[in-house]
Amino acid sequence: MRSPIIAVDSLRKTSAMPADAVSVPSPTTFDRRPGIVDQFERPIRDLRISVTDRCNFRCTYCMPREIFGRDFEFLPKEMVLTFEEIVRLAKSFVVLGVEKLRITGGEPLVRRDLPRLVEMLAELRTPSGAEIDLTLTTNGSALPALARQLRTAGLRRLTVSLDSLDDDVFRAMNGVDYPVAKVLAGIHAARAAGFDPVKINMVVRRGTNETSILPMARWARSKGLILRLIEYMDVGHTNGWRLDEVVPADEIVGTIDAELPVEPIAAQYRGEVANRWRYRDGEGEIGVIASVTQPFCGDCTRARLSADGRLYTCLFAGDGHDLRGVLRGGADDEALAQTIGAIWSRRDDRYSDLRSEATANLPRIEMFAMGG
Ligand code: SAM
Repeated sequence: MRSPIIAVDSLRKTSAMPADAVSVPSPTTFDRRPGIVDQFERPIRDLRISVTDRCNFRCTYCMPREIFGRDFEFLPKEMVLTFEEIVRLAKSFVVLGVEKLRITGGEPLVRRDLPRLVEMLAELRTPSGAEIDLTLTTNGSALPALARQLRTAGLRRLTVSLDSLDDDVFRAMNGVDYPVAKVLAGIHAARAAGFDPVKINMVVRRGTNETSILPMARWARSKGLILRLIEYMDVGHTNGWRLDEVVPADEIVGTIDAELPVEPIAAQYRGEVANRWRYRDGEGEIGVIASVTQPFCGDCTRARLSADGRLYTCLFAGDGHDLRGVLRGGADDEALAQTIGAIWSRRDDRYSDLRSEATANLPRIEMFAMGG
């Protein structure tokens, strides 16, 4: 199999900054600073927080059932961060420049009392006093029960993953024969609870669901939902990723454009993950996440915190940094921010830019484990 041939962006490497040279100012000093940057001048703006490595689905491209069966050992409770620990860490990230928090997993809604964590995170403010952009990604199965509580707790935005409207295709892809009607009921509950717009994540895998692209686009547009189509990525090692199963973003957009003409929209901010397109008739938009064919490492401002408190500075990272140990070792807020700041300032990841035969066999953490 050939590896993707991808032009490597010319990221300009600035002078190396030794970890011990990093000075993390107090929150007050930070009011006048734009936040910390890494080796490529990328600030830290988004934090994805995985609240559990468990999931009630076994999506074939993420947690294939053959590997994550009954015998698979998920994290024991004592290794998982408590809500209080998550909030303390999130606070340190916010001090360093994070403005957006995404709660994820595993499936975040299988974690007990999740609305309470939402309530706690919703109280955080940036050093300049602004609210945090708090959002959550879910498979939607628990939304009929939880959507209203999440909204009341202060969740501002919501993304639901849904790979097809075709019941047979969806049941096969989620690996647990879960009916599409139940996810649709979850989306309905989210809308009724006041989430608007709701975003829909669709992973497109050739030979599996590419015929669902147009039906999903028509449906999302008619319901006022924002569809985000995601190139099937080589995260982790268990999904048996193959390049010929990736439907390139250009092809995805072309398929939609042939029936529902679209035009590109300029990015709203640095680090926006999706390339956005609006329907030419003015009725809605789509986003396309092209991390394989159009890597966006140069603008990546995202960090990931796993359920057991490891910090990953790249979705394709082979290893993370243990923050739980630092936290449970008694570090105060300043020391926590210092540690995170030092890690971020050393960051020089750009896996997707470099993706090639040389990177294909490097160790990589599974997406459900580090937080998708
Ligand atoms: N359980 C939640 C959900 O279903 O949205 C949150 C975690 S899930 C890992 C987050 C997102 O990652 C989902 O939209 C999922 O489709 C996407 N994802 C997982 N594996 C992927 C892969 N190999 N390529 C592209 N997207 C993937």
